[in-house]
Amino acid sequence: VGRLRGTRKEVNRIEVLKGVDLDVHKGQTVVILGSSGSGKSTLLRCMNKLETIDSGRILVNGHMVGYEERGGKLVDEKASVTAQKRTDLGMVFQQFNLFLNKTALGNVMAPLQDVKKMSRPDAEQHALENLRRVGLLDRKDNYPSKLSGGQKQRVAIARALAMDPSVMLFDEPTSALDPELVEEVLAVIKAIAAQGTTMVIVTHEMQFARDIADIIVVMDQGVIVEKGTPNEVFFKPKHAKTYALLKRSG
Ligand code: ATP
Ligand code: MG
Repeated sequence: VGRLRGTRKEVNRIEVLKGVDLDVHKGQTVVILGSSGSGKSTLLRCMNKLETIDSGRILVNGHMVGYEERGGKLVDEKASVTAQKRTDLGMVFQQFNLFLNKTALGNVMAPLQDVKKMSRPDAEQHALENLRRVGLLDRKDNYPSKLSGGQKQRVAIARALAMDPSVMLFDEPTSALDPELVEEVLAVIKAIAAQGTTMVIVTHEMQFARDIADIIVVMDQGVIVEKGTPNEVFFKPKHAKTYALLKRSG
């Protein structure tokens, strides 16, 4: 579903991504580990086209991110990028980014109506289905101020899921949460993975990474230094950086 080749990105003349190659297959969960500043968020933001890349390419569903085909030629899509196309990727951030003036249901419905142009009844039905998937049907009428951090993050997950993206991207979805709320969010993400959703997850939760990942990649200073199954990465780390990460997390 997703393929990155030689992806490079500079920020303020500093090379933040130095040539990243990564494949994400349908139904797979890929977990990205790495210390602070290694480029994990930047990589997700490039995949989601929140950032442009300086060289290399990123394909999602065979389409090059940032380009469109016009008369057989690839053209930088710039302003003509359709919001529709972007919905190929759903993103969940550390901060939940909910609309504070909308209920849980309203938050999930908003992009369905605005971007997917669903009718109000269709959007409502689809939003309710997705609130159910994250176990929040009973909170549908709550405003974010009346939801716990874990519940807010679950609404954000429902909102992204409801768009039926081909890949879900999570950037440290539990690191803004109080410790006692982390588990409920991880459980929801695991349940969604088990339903066959393709996901790329940046996390510092090592046990979770081990449980959920099909493939784990370790980033360091803008490159992928290690890639393997959880067993390979956890029990036979090849790179000193991986070893250090594992050691630090106990
Ligand atoms: P963390 O675990 O702390 O979230 P990360 O792996 O997600 O780290 P990035 O946020 O991708 O790392 O940042 C990678 C590097 O790029 C860092 O050195 C950071 O300082 C730099 N960087 C990223 N975005 C910007 C920006 N908008 N302006 C300046 N520097 C940036
Ligand atoms: Mg980050």
